[in-house]
Amino acid sequence: MEKMQFKAESKRLLDMMINSIYTNQEIFLREIISNASDAMDKLAYTALTDHKVGLNRDDFSITITRDEANRTLTVSDNGIGMSREEMEENLGTICKSGSLSFKQEMEKQDDIDIIGQFGVGFYSAFMVASPVTVISKKYGEDTAWKWVSDGAEGYTIEQAQRDAAGTDIIMTLKADSEEGEYSRFLDEYELRNLIKRYSDYIRYPIRMEVTKQRKKDDCTEGENAYEEYTEWETLNSMVPLWHRNKKDVTQEEYDSFYREKFFDYSKPLCTIHTSAEGSVSFKALLYVPGKAPYDYYSKEFKAGLQLYSSGVMIMEHCEELLPEHFRFVRGIVDTQDISLNISREMLQHNRQLTIISRNIEKKIKAELKSLLEKDREKYEQFFAAFGRQLKYSTVAEYGAHKDATQDLLLFRSHKQGKLITLHEYVESMAEGQTKIYYVPGENRERLAKLPQVETLSKRGYDTLLFTEDVDEFIPQYLYTYEEKQFCNAATEDLNLQTEEEKKELEQKAEELKGFLTFVKESLGDAVKEVKLSANLGSHPVAMVPEMGMSFEMEKYMKKANPEFAFPVGRILELNPEHEAVKALERAMTEDPIKAKDYAELLMYQAQLMADLPIEDPAAYTELVCKLMK
Ligand code: ADP
Repeated sequence: MEKMQFKAESKRLLDMMINSIYTNQEIFLREIISNASDAMDKLAYTALTDHKVGLNRDDFSITITRDEANRTLTVSDNGIGMSREEMEENLGTICKSGSLSFKQEMEKQDDIDIIGQFGVGFYSAFMVASPVTVISKKYGEDTAWKWVSDGAEGYTIEQAQRDAAGTDIIMTLKADSEEGEYSRFLDEYELRNLIKRYSDYIRYPIRMEVTKQRKKDDCTEGENAYEEYTEWETLNSMVPLWHRNKKDVTQEEYDSFYREKFFDYSKPLCTIHTSAEGSVSFKALLYVPGKAPYDYYSKEFKAGLQLYSSGVMIMEHCEELLPEHFRFVRGIVDTQDISLNISREMLQHNRQLTIISRNIEKKIKAELKSLLEKDREKYEQFFAAFGRQLKYSTVAEYGAHKDATQDLLLFRSHKQGKLITLHEYVESMAEGQTKIYYVPGENRERLAKLPQVETLSKRGYDTLLFTEDVDEFIPQYLYTYEEKQFCNAATEDLNLQTEEEKKELEQKAEELKGFLTFVKESLGDAVKEVKLSANLGSHPVAMVPEMGMSFEMEKYMKKANPEFAFPVGRILELNPEHEAVKALERAMTEDPIKAKDYAELLMYQAQLMADLPIEDPAAYTELVCKLMK
């Protein structure tokens, strides 16, 4: 038996790795299984030209053996195995990759996908086990070797017994402690889950002896009719759904895969099964869920796609793969172009991931657009679940992602009485209309009755009813849509009059100057200004905010950020043609005291119409009663 020391830098790396890279201890199993799978890839590849191997692809398998008495978990394979030198080289030196040399050697011949080029996977066994024993026999050699290490100072190598080529990794699990409950890696159920979760699509069978129950053939009454027995079972399904040909997979299969994988029992709305070849190759299976998970709009929700490298899961929520605005999408991306042992930090700056993510973004957008065009009902279901996300993403980062989202937004059209896109709004604009009109407010029915909406409606102009908080921010970040400007009909000048009409109104205001001053003085500080308007249709008055703000924004700020909220100046607009306004004007000369009451009453009405709270409801009712007496 020979004792060897780990090289100094290897020791440091080993220490670092055990304590830092893998916070998720359970992934050691995935690493060991994936090494076994590599080793079988290599022998299967050799078998293509060397008939002495005598194994078909179907003959390869990985077995998992649990020994509770000795606390060992063993992963065995009948792959290529390691010679004594290879053991020293591959297991004694971190970052020296056997796979890499192998790959270089085989490069010219064919494409054989061998994963893991960083050479650290094997050491993850030391996170949960000590010592780790490796018994291996290299294909074509007569002697087997045993490598043992406690993961600290060094390792020993000695001759050993093994019949056929292949490798056993025997892990003596550490005692349970605060750092981890290692006994769980002996539990049949736990192992089954881990294999399903991380290694389901390893293309060789992973077999384990499992306990089952069966009905006894002959049992007497009163006796337990069931007995336990053990049986070898293949725990992984081997063929990833996303590796199969699209036309060979039924929607049913896609749906049930979604259900099992993402624990969502409602049917997904869309399934996107796609692949790309080129500078980066990948396969992806993506789903748009039918409803938002209960925690979707909270911090708890974890977005991201599952990242696989050649059939082995390397990350459960890879956020880098999915743009924020499509974070509701669930799914899987599998690529050979990313190393199995890549760390999270490295992934963040990975060029391949960026390319995949852009490609995926395009695919999702195209799918949603096609749903929007072909199945409106389904799209509206989607929008009810995730429309808010698209809206928030449109305004996030100062509108940086608006190109991806703006065509997918829906708003309530006053004229059409349904949800429409901005494109549909522009398309159906009336002759002479130049702007996209909208009004913000909580209540749809109420908005529809606003004087400004009525005025626009008379001209055949549609108004979008913005009923969600975020809606009003959207025009600010889009500026224009299809070259049309947005106009908040409740706050901005609708500018519908001809020059002549405008002049007329100015003239009228000049004539009524004394009247307007009287109304302003009657109302005091409750309003900032009183003026005439030609936009009020059949309504006598309207309350509009000072330039630049809106009452909805005022309310929103009050809720979201009370310290910074400030009242928006109120401007009372009067319709000079309305009988009530005319009555007020007459009262001014006939009975100024009553006229002051009239002015107040109209102001209250304007407030109600604008959905503004009345600060002193008692004063208001008193006023109404007083006028009725
Ligand atoms: P990587 O697999 O990324 O190269 P590892 O640290 O996981 O790095 O493994 C180091 C090397 O040890 C592998 O490249 C391989 O040559 C060898 N090895 C590990 N496990 C096995 C196995 N089951 N059979 C044959 N060789 C193995």
